[in-house]
Amino acid sequence: MKKIQMQTPLVEMDGDEMTRILWKIIKDELLLPYIDLNTEYYDLGLEYRNETDDQVTVDAAEATKKYGVAVKCATITPNKARMEEYTLKKMYKSPNGTIRAILDGTVFRAPIVVKGIEPCVKNWKKPITIARHAYGDVYKNTEMYIDGPGDAYLVFEGADGQQRKELIHHYEGPGVLQGMHNLDDSITSFARCCFNYALDTKQNLWLGGKDTISKIYDGRFKEIFATIYEDEFKEKFEAAGIEYFYSLIDDIVARVMKAEGGFIWACKNYDGDVMSDMVSSAFGSLAMMTSVLVSPQGYYEYEAAHGTVQRHYYRYLKGEETSTNSVATIFAWTGALRKRGELDGNKELMEFADKLEKATLETIESGKMTKDLALITSLEDVTVLNSKDFILAIRERLDEIL
Ligand code: NAD
Repeated sequence: MKKIQMQTPLVEMDGDEMTRILWKIIKDELLLPYIDLNTEYYDLGLEYRNETDDQVTVDAAEATKKYGVAVKCATITPNKARMEEYTLKKMYKSPNGTIRAILDGTVFRAPIVVKGIEPCVKNWKKPITIARHAYGDVYKNTEMYIDGPGDAYLVFEGADGQQRKELIHHYEGPGVLQGMHNLDDSITSFARCCFNYALDTKQNLWLGGKDTISKIYDGRFKEIFATIYEDEFKEKFEAAGIEYFYSLIDDIVARVMKAEGGFIWACKNYDGDVMSDMVSSAFGSLAMMTSVLVSPQGYYEYEAAHGTVQRHYYRYLKGEETSTNSVATIFAWTGALRKRGELDGNKELMEFADKLEKATLETIESGKMTKDLALITSLEDVTVLNSKDFILAIRERLDEIL
């Protein structure tokens, strides 16, 4: 069989622990036999990040800007324990954070829906994609414990000399106090990412805020989204037959619970943090979530939403059998290959991505799955496979489809 050719390299970011093991098996069994894989490889495994003082992460992000599409394996974000385990020179930042800072993107997360793993909200038939604004608000707050009576003020000193001061609260006794901020630039690029992604995936876009209470802060999100929609996207949305709508966050939550899915929910930072966990657990598991970082300039970085599955890795190192779910990592590859194909007009590559996804879902639907799914499936006749055998079962199905 002639292998599929690729015109432009895909930026490949390798990672850590169990997902690094899966990464290689996926490439060897599901990609290399069928595609003349053209990737520019960056090793984001913690050892090499340490060796290069994390320069490799920056280089990988820059390469994503150059080529437009990347696929990333899960990576360790070092903490104190990892400093000792890997004798690190310093506590490097999260690679995802570094990459996001360079690409300035928004992360879109969506569950992978498959028969046999039913969401606990029974009317959810299609994925709900969460777009989380990953800047500011409570994540960059300044807070104080107030230990006695006094006055708290919100003060702004302009670079031009202007002075503004408003009373927040007159304290009669102890309490708490918090200040937070956001930026027009950041909200604007969040809005553009969301509108572009909605067009890209032909899904409606919902945004919720509390602008009845927070007239200026949440009101600003509503205004910026409305302006960008009117100026840049309204006609394109109408041509694509999709809608944008804003409502109060409580109304949106009520609608989400009754909807059947198949839309994008743009969330402010805190809402996105909380709601993405609600959506993923309601749909099944973290191992069945895709995640893509989309920049306002149209760069895409695909990954799995879960981490490096450390416990399984230690078992693997001891030579014990593991049953680690590779679905989200496979879908990171298919997402990236499909996007690469789309940008290069490479239909064969796009079709291959569709078929590999189909083979993966059909393998699960036939009852062959990893342990995490076997614990939650509604299917009766289930075979629990180990990490490698699950990928081999997908390969068998893929060969039938091809
Ligand atoms: P994790 O996602 O690796 O694991 C959380 C839990 O979910 C564990 O119980 C694990 O067994 C289970 N799980 C996750 N993915 C699974 C899969 N594919 N198959 C079966 N079970 C699965 O998160 P963690 O344990 O909090 O973190 C482990 C490491 O991963 C940490 O070093 C952290 O820094 C890193 N991490 C990386 C990313 C990323 O690169 N995007 C995201 C989160 C965590």
